Amino acid sequence: KAKREGKRSFRFYDAALQEEVVKSRELENHLRDALEAGELEVFFQPQVGVSSGRVEALEALARWHSPTLGQISPGRFIPVAERSGLIVPLGALVLREACRFAAGLEAQGLPSLRVAVNVSARQLLQEDFAETTLRVLEETGLAPSLLEVEITETTLMESFDRVSETLRHLREKGVRVALDDFGMGYSSLTYLRRLPLDTLKIDRSFIVDSRREGNRVITRAMVRLGHDLGLEVVAEGVETEEHRAFADEAECDVIQGYWYSRPLPPEEVRAFLSRQGDL
Ligand code: C2E
Ligand code: MG
Ligand code: MG
Ligand code: MG
Repeated sequence: KAKREGKRSFRFYDAALQEEVVKSRELENHLRDALEAGELEVFFQPQVGVSSGRVEALEALARWHSPTLGQISPGRFIPVAERSGLIVPLGALVLREACRFAAGLEAQGLPSLRVAVNVSARQLLQEDFAETTLRVLEETGLAPSLLEVEITETTLMESFDRVSETLRHLREKGVRVALDDFGMGYSSLTYLRRLPLDTLKIDRSFIVDSRREGNRVITRAMVRLGHDLGLEVVAEGVETEEHRAFADEAECDVIQGYWYSRPLPPEEVRAFLSRQGDL
C-alpha cells in the first residue's frame, strides 16, 4: 500500500512540477514581450542618512505592470528573468533608466543623489559588463561615484574570481559596490574579507525581528564589523518607528524602508524630495 501511495504522490509531484515549469515558461514569454513592449519600469526608493536626516541615495527597483496579467512582483519575475537570461536586457534597461534619472536630477541643479542598481550574476558574468556600464555612465553623463551596484552573496557563489575582478575594475573608475541582503547567505565573512566593497546592506529580516535579543546582538556586531572594514552600513526594511530607533541605536549610517518611503515612480521622487525639505 505504501508503495502505491508513494507512486501516486510521485505522480502528483511530477504534475505539480510540470505545471510550475509551464507557468514559468509562460511568464518568461510574457516577460520577453513585455520588455519589447516597454512595460517594464523603474521605481526609486529613498535611502536616508541617519545623521543628516536627508535623502542620500535612491535604490532603483524594477516594476512590471502587464496589461493582461496585472502587477507582477520582482520576487516572481526576477527569478524567471535570471533563469532565462532575460535578466541581461532587463538589467541593462534598469541600469540605463537609473543613470539617466540620477543624471537628470543633477542636471536640474538638484543636490546629487547616488543611485543604487541591483545586478545579477548572469549580468556580471557578461564579458562586457564593466565596459557597458562605463559607457552608460558616459552617455548619460552621470559621475561614476553616483552609481552603486548592489550584488548579493548568491551572485558571488557562481564565479567569485571573475565577479570580483569585474567589480574591482568598475571600482577603479569610481563606481561603488554594495553587498545586499547581508547576513542571509552562507559565506558572508569570507566575502567581506575578499571583496572590493563600499557598502553593507543589512538584510531586512534582522530589522524586522529587532525585538529578539539574538537578532539585536547580531545586528550590532554586523554594523561594527562593517564600520571596522571602512564600509557604510545601510539598514533595509525599516517599516516602523521601532525599527528606525533600533537601526539608529545599532549605529547604521543609512536607513531604507517604508517608514520613509515606498519605492516611488520617477515622477513622484521630486515631490518627495521637496516635502523632505531636500530641494
Ligand atoms: P532588494 O534589492 O533587497 O530590494 C529591497 C526590496 O525590499 C524591494 O522589494 C523593496 O520594495 C522592499 N522594501 C523596501 N523597504 C521595505 C520595507 O520597509 N518593508 C518591506 N517588507 N519591504 C521593503 P522589491 O522591489 O519587490 O524587489 C525584490 C527583490 O527583487 C530585490 O531585493 C532585488 O533582489 C530584486 N530586484 C528588484 N529589481 C531588480 C533589478 O532591477 N535587477 C535585479 N537583478 N534584481 C532586482
Ligand atoms: Mg537591493
Ligand atoms: Mg536587499
Ligand atoms: Mg532582497
